[in-house]
Amino acid sequence: MEDPQRFGAEPAAVRETDHYQAEYIQSFVEKWDELIDWDARADSEGKFFIDQLKARDKHTVLDVAAGTGFHSIRLLKAGFSVVSADGSAEMLSKAFENGRQRGLILKTVHADWRWLNRDVHGKFDAIICLGNSFTHLFDERDRRRALAEFYAALRHDGILIIDQRNYDGILDVGFDSRHKYYYCGDQVVAEPEYVDDGLARFRYQFPDGSVYRLNMFPLRKNYTRELLFEAGFQRVSTFGDFQETYQERDPDFFVHVAEKAYE
Ligand code: SAM
Repeated sequence: MEDPQRFGAEPAAVRETDHYQAEYIQSFVEKWDELIDWDARADSEGKFFIDQLKARDKHTVLDVAAGTGFHSIRLLKAGFSVVSADGSAEMLSKAFENGRQRGLILKTVHADWRWLNRDVHGKFDAIICLGNSFTHLFDERDRRRALAEFYAALRHDGILIIDQRNYDGILDVGFDSRHKYYYCGDQVVAEPEYVDDGLARFRYQFPDGSVYRLNMFPLRKNYTRELLFEAGFQRVSTFGDFQETYQERDPDFFVHVAEKAYE
């Protein structure tokens, strides 16, 4: 069987941070925007991120998981100054192209989070790491390292906005996505095909029959919050599907807004 994403003979054994490079191959990247459906995603999240940034008077933003550029482009259009970084060159070139088609020139930087400050220079008011991206880190040392790099790239009162799937729900109850948020393309079937405490392997089937997979680490909500505090953030507010109040099991996604400043 063809294996362009290089999962090998034992796909459930692939639990390495570096493997994201092999997963975001050109043909999958080309399909990514079908998966997320930009218009539906913009409607579903509304102005949530823009409001969070404006409420805290943040202007310069580093999008560390730019992907195909959805949030970088939304924020640029809303008047923020944005630098778009990603560890995948394929994703970055698609983001640049998406920006160009909308009359925008994205400032792109090819950078892995674990040594972000080697390649990204300057301090930012805010960092965003969205679209369930942090889940790609399989080793706890990599998560701590990445958060330390994010922390260092922020100004003294900077904020990090980072999101994740509701893996607690998936691990404890089972998967139930109504695809209301984030991955909104209704022509794409996205669901987990294997889950244990150390792996959530998702399968994405597109209308043309093509199938891609992503191996991700199932971050529990409180574990991520703990890591954020341990990285030095003083306050962490966690939203469920963009709402302040929610039942733990209900949301598809959690968004953490982590603040550096002491109150
Ligand atoms: N933020 C985009 C969105 O919401 O559509 C893309 C999300 S995609 C699930 C995850 C992105 O994180 C990919 O573009 C991938 O290349 C990037 N990524 C994963 N691990 C990374 C790492 N260690 N360093 C830098 N980028 C990484």
